[in-house]
Amino acid sequence: MAGSSPAMTSTMKAMPPVFRFAPSPNGLLHLGHAYSALLNFDRARESGGRLLLRIEDIDATRCRPDYETAIYEDLGWLGIAWETPVRRQSEHLSDYRAALERLSSLDLVYPAFESRAEIARLVAAREADGPWPRDPDGAPLYPGDAKSLPANERIRLIAAGAPYALRLDMAAASSRVGSLSWRDLGEGPEGERGAVRARPEAWGDVILARKETPTSYHLSVVVDDALQGVSEIVRGQDLFHATSVHRLLQVLLGLPEPAYRHHALIRDGEGRKLSKSSRSTGLRELRSAGATPASVRQLLGLG
Ligand code: GLU
Repeated sequence: MAGSSPAMTSTMKAMPPVFRFAPSPNGLLHLGHAYSALLNFDRARESGGRLLLRIEDIDATRCRPDYETAIYEDLGWLGIAWETPVRRQSEHLSDYRAALERLSSLDLVYPAFESRAEIARLVAAREADGPWPRDPDGAPLYPGDAKSLPANERIRLIAAGAPYALRLDMAAASSRVGSLSWRDLGEGPEGERGAVRARPEAWGDVILARKETPTSYHLSVVVDDALQGVSEIVRGQDLFHATSVHRLLQVLLGLPEPAYRHHALIRDGEGRKLSKSSRSTGLRELRSAGATPASVRQLLGLG
């Protein structure tokens, strides 16, 4: 690198890669979580990197302290070690608020007042005229027109205490940023790898915050990965398409671009994605049936 001193070059070389495993404490961990956590742990060890654990507990209605305790116990049992203190998202709401304010100051955020039931009705009405577009997770795109609500009407509704969600104006955000991509060291569900083109528009006007939860998965994950200096994100293919939204938010917020490594999902005997309620693949069940950390690794092909 022309102009950089030898000291600077060696400092840059010395930066260890940073990985994170980021479970939500809304259930007990299963084999799918074990796979993701072990891949992160192994990648960190192989590369002389650091492993962080982040507790994604913004949804107060579904997250429970006993599940958080179980996460520590189960990961410890698997032989995984992580740095402390652990970051819990519920303790950092002001970081997400600051990011939201930045997006608002760019005029990319608007309040939408429809309830979930009203949204379902609107979608049904649109579908009477033909198929209504769905996001990569299969949920219908936001069908409302809150974006064009006159300012005085917004002010009146907010003053009257009407609940609302803050949504990203996707069309304005995407045209501000232009074309986007990310580097995938793993593989997407259709075999996508290497330089992957981001398609955030496929998600429509995503929710960034709700009245009862002043942030969202997309916003808090992007803010935290940047604040924690995460350089390689190893996670399941179920989040592959969400990466499009994450890249968009990173650019809008002026945050660095990490590398991504999406991995295949562990499936049950019928080929279904594991869920926190599927008993036979829960780590606790396997353990009481006599599994050892080594046998779990073997089962996952990580022996
Ligand atoms: N908290 C998310 C989950 O449990 C994972 C977030 C991520 O890895 O980006 O599915």
